[in-house]
Amino acid sequence: MHSKDIMVNLYQLFNMHQSTQTELETKGLVFDIKRYAIHDGPGIRTTVFFKGCPLQCLWCHNPESWKNQVELGFRKSRCVGCGQCAEVCPREAISFVENRPVTDAQKCMLCGRCVDVCIAGAREIIGRQITVSEVMAEVERDIIFYDQSGGGVTFSGGEPLMQPDFLVVLLNQCRVMNIHTAVDTSCYAEPEIVESVAERADMFLCDIKHMDSEMHERFTGVGNDLILENIRCLSQAGKKIIIRIPIIPGFNDDPENIEATGEFTASLPVVGRIDILPFNRGGIEKSARLTGENKSMLTETPDEEQMSLIAQSLSKYVFEVNIGG
Ligand code: SF4
Ligand code: SF4
Repeated sequence: MHSKDIMVNLYQLFNMHQSTQTELETKGLVFDIKRYAIHDGPGIRTTVFFKGCPLQCLWCHNPESWKNQVELGFRKSRCVGCGQCAEVCPREAISFVENRPVTDAQKCMLCGRCVDVCIAGAREIIGRQITVSEVMAEVERDIIFYDQSGGGVTFSGGEPLMQPDFLVVLLNQCRVMNIHTAVDTSCYAEPEIVESVAERADMFLCDIKHMDSEMHERFTGVGNDLILENIRCLSQAGKKIIIRIPIIPGFNDDPENIEATGEFTASLPVVGRIDILPFNRGGIEKSARLTGENKSMLTETPDEEQMSLIAQSLSKYVFEVNIGG
C-alpha cells in the first residue's frame, strides 16, 4: 500500500476512535438501573429507567420518572421530625410546619446533604446524569446471564424516546457487544425518532392504554393518535412488538375497549403477543408521596377472574396473551 494511503487510513481510524470516545461520553438522565429483571422482555435483563415522560398516567407506578430533571423526594410517613435536615441545609431551604419539614424548591440546589443526614430514609435525590460508558459498565456485568437466558437490556422509564441521542448511542453499543435490546415505550414521540430507534433496537414493548383518544387524554394527558400510528409503523417495519395493556378498572376494562384493542392488535402486520397488567395501587401511593395528591378515583384492582376473562377475550385476536407480562 502506498504510504499516502496508509496515512489516510490511520487518520480515518483516529477519527472513528475519537467519535466513539465522544459518543461514550454522551450523558442522559436516569432514575434507576435494575439488574435481574424478568418482566421487561425475554430472559434475564438489566432495565435502565430513563427520567422524563410526556404522559402522566393517573395509575403510573413510576411517578418519580415524570420530570426530566433531578428532584428531591420526601416520604412524609417516614419522617420523625428530628430536624437534622434543616440544620445541615446550606441554603436554609427547609422550614418546619407542624413538626414536619417543608422544602423550598426555589432555594434547594439538590446538594443531597439533607439526604445524607436523614437516618429515617425520608429524603432522596431522584435521578442522576450518567454517561453511556457508565451505563454500559453496569449492563456488561451480566452478559453471562443474558446469554444463558436469552435476555438482554431493556430501556424503560419514564419515556426512553424523550432522550433519543442517549438512547441511540446505547443501542449502538449494545449491538456492538451483541446484547439483545428492548425499548419499553408509550410510543408518544416524533415518528422520525421512532424510526431511528427502530433501526437499532431488537424489540419493542408498546403500551396501549385506551383506544378512545378522548379517554386516553383524560387519564394520561395526551391523545392516542400518534401512539397508534407509531405502533403501526413499527409493525410495518417488521419489528417484534409486545403490546402491553395496563388493566385499570373503570377506565379501560370495559368489553368495547378490550375488543377494540384486540382488533387493532390483530390488524398489525407483525403481532407478537399481548401482556395484560393488573393495576396496582402502589403507583398511586408513590405519586401521593411526590405530589401530595391522592388520586382516590382509582380504588379498585382487577381480580384474577376479571383478568382471565379479559385474557380470554383477547385470545381471539392474538396467539399469545399473558397475564402480568
Ligand atoms: S432529617 Fe429526615 S426524619 Fe429528620 S426531620 Fe428531616 S426528613 Fe424528617
Ligand atoms: S438538597 Fe441540599 S439544598 Fe436541597 S434541601 Fe437538601 S440540604 Fe438543602
